[in-house]
Amino acid sequence: MFSKVLIANRGEIALRVTRACRELGLKTVGIFSDSDANLLHLRFVDQKVALGGNSPLESYLNIDKVVEACLLTRADAVHPGYGFLSENALFAQKLQENNIVFIGPSVDVLRTMKNKLLTKKILHQAGIPVVPGSLEPLHSEEEALSVARELGFPVLLKACLGGGGRGIRVVASEKELKDAFRSASREAKMAFGSSDLYLEKQIERARHIEVQILADNFGNVVHLGERECSLQRKRQKVLEEAPAHFLDAGLRSEILKCAVKAAQALNYTTCGTLEFLVTEDGNFYFMELNARIQVEHPVTEMITGVDIVREQIKAASGEKLPFNQEDIAFRGHAIEMRINAEDPFRNFTPSPGRITRFEIPRGPGIRVDSHCYSGYVVPPYYDSLIAKLIVWDENRDFALRRSYEALHSFFVEGISTTIPFHLRILQNEDFVRGCFHTRFIEEDFVME
Ligand code: ADP
Ligand code: ADP
Ligand code: MG
Repeated sequence: MFSKVLIANRGEIALRVTRACRELGLKTVGIFSDSDANLLHLRFVDQKVALGGNSPLESYLNIDKVVEACLLTRADAVHPGYGFLSENALFAQKLQENNIVFIGPSVDVLRTMKNKLLTKKILHQAGIPVVPGSLEPLHSEEEALSVARELGFPVLLKACLGGGGRGIRVVASEKELKDAFRSASREAKMAFGSSDLYLEKQIERARHIEVQILADNFGNVVHLGERECSLQRKRQKVLEEAPAHFLDAGLRSEILKCAVKAAQALNYTTCGTLEFLVTEDGNFYFMELNARIQVEHPVTEMITGVDIVREQIKAASGEKLPFNQEDIAFRGHAIEMRINAEDPFRNFTPSPGRITRFEIPRGPGIRVDSHCYSGYVVPPYYDSLIAKLIVWDENRDFALRRSYEALHSFFVEGISTTIPFHLRILQNEDFVRGCFHTRFIEEDFVME
């Protein structure tokens, strides 16, 4: 096992990881930007290093600074959380060169995975169904046009190195394609450092179903079931559930089997998530692999009782998985609501600032993952996630009711949050009946 883990992140995930390390008896190092000196996890770490600066590029995305912090504190492992450097192959490689373990998949896997298209191609070759589209980067507008005609409009232009809901553009018709291709490649070059694009058929009224994987260095791969993440806004997840209640049992077991096969084909290790799109007529396609702990991992923890972060750290340190597939049992239903510092009544504009009151709901089946407290100031420089409310109950129906009650005793004052938005979602008949898809919020849901 490691002796000292540097937590290369901020916010709720930094706190989650700090606790997981301490529970394993590991020493911890926190890093922070100028505006983040008051982060909650910094009270519990053994050492902390000021990175300086505020923007991600000056701080949490700055490979040199983070590696230097590791060397300074003699950390022998790094937990990257999600976002920031969590899927960065260059970072993982620099750590390796310094004999520091990156708590995540191997440098080789990260290098492949960085390119969403390459991953898709490898899995296609391994016999995994992938979303219909090009399997090589598009070389020209003409090529894009002929691929798009074959697929049928609307299509999606995706940046090979895109992520975080960015780098995806809908193209509705032939006449839009030329301009879209040009500006998308320009934008991809700016945002991700490569102008490479690929095309995918736009799957209408699809569901986003993903599978949580745990894998050790000995070839053992176990899945922890699936999550329903179709409730999205601008291609970003808003609320997640486990299990995917509306998936029929046959299809579920096919998707789970497929996910394990895909992880094996990639020699995947530690924890990861395979994302699939499921069509209305019951087909499913691999979409992408997230090579890190995900924001929504708690819903899976609630129904399996497995501490995913703990198992991720243990697997990275070279331990064997402590269970087989048969040992994993599923119980009840869990829902996660992402509470963001945004104003849902003003088109979700960010709402940073001082939180004057922060009171969380309590009681059976209620979990809040958050770094916030009364008096905490939400800085404007980072992701707007301030808390995750995770609710467990014996079935979906009760989990929905418990979620609704819990939201009513979640008090955040001083800034705007998405709590009122979640309350309305939970009252929406279609959502409650399970009639929703990835474009539901944009197309069928009205805020007031
Ligand atoms: P999850 O399924 O874990 O929610 P997301 O794709 O929403 O995954 O990403 C989690 C976090 O990482 C979000 O804060 C998102 O903004 C950020 N993120 C993910 N990929 C990238 C990327 N390529 N560039 C910048 N931020 C990213
Ligand atoms: P990111 O790396 O940003 O998470 P994804 O490829 O996972 O990008 O796509 C983000 C979201 O966009 C998906 O969860 C889904 O809602 C939607 N999406 C992606 N590809 C398609 C597609 N081919 N058809 C329909 N929706 C899609
Ligand atoms: Mg995705």
